[in-house]
Amino acid sequence: MGVDPTRVCELLVGLGDVEVVGVDDDVGVPLRVHIRRRAARPDCDGCGGRLWSDGEKLVELVDLPAFGRPVQLVWHKRRWRCPSSECSAGPVTERDPRIAPAREKLTTRAGRWVTCQAGRGRSFNEVASELGCSWHPVNASVQRWGEALLEADTDRIGDTQALGLDEHLMWRRGRFRHKAWATSIVDISRGHLFGHSLR
Ligand SMILES: [Zn+2]
Repeated sequence: MGVDPTRVCELLVGLGDVEVVGVDDDVGVPLRVHIRRRAARPDCDGCGGRLWSDGEKLVELVDLPAFGRPVQLVWHKRRWRCPSSECSAGPVTERDPRIAPAREKLTTRAGRWVTCQAGRGRSFNEVASELGCSWHPVNASVQRWGEALLEADTDRIGDTQALGLDEHLMWRRGRFRHKAWATSIVDISRGHLFGHSLR
């Protein structure tokens, strides 16, 4: 059993080799967990020399809720620059897609989770309210991870020569018999239905 409070905290945050710098616990806002990677200082991509520290940039990310509270992860991203006047490499800000992909507002694990929730039919608004954020970052994250899933899902869809789009009347609903239409997307060459939506 771990008893070192720092280590216990890091295990709870569960992001591997990161140190927990601190936690902001303010009433009415998400818990803010500050982290910093423990990775070694990288060498310069341009000249291979040793980089110098150039401070930190704080990046706020929506993370998974913990203990019933929304959580914001504040990543203290380290910045580096090459001291050589003959080197053309620009300043470097560290990246780690295990924490979050570049320019994402949600952590990697939160992005995957919201995509699963959307796949189960939950609305973006509902998921966003559970995470303590607005609809937009959830929407952007589902687009991103959804596209990655489709690209990886080559067995189910495979190479397609010709796509067919068909819209037909499924049924008439209610007292006024409103028309309910179905749109289907089909691989014409193989007669394979990719999916359809009803409206
Ligand atoms: Zn350099």
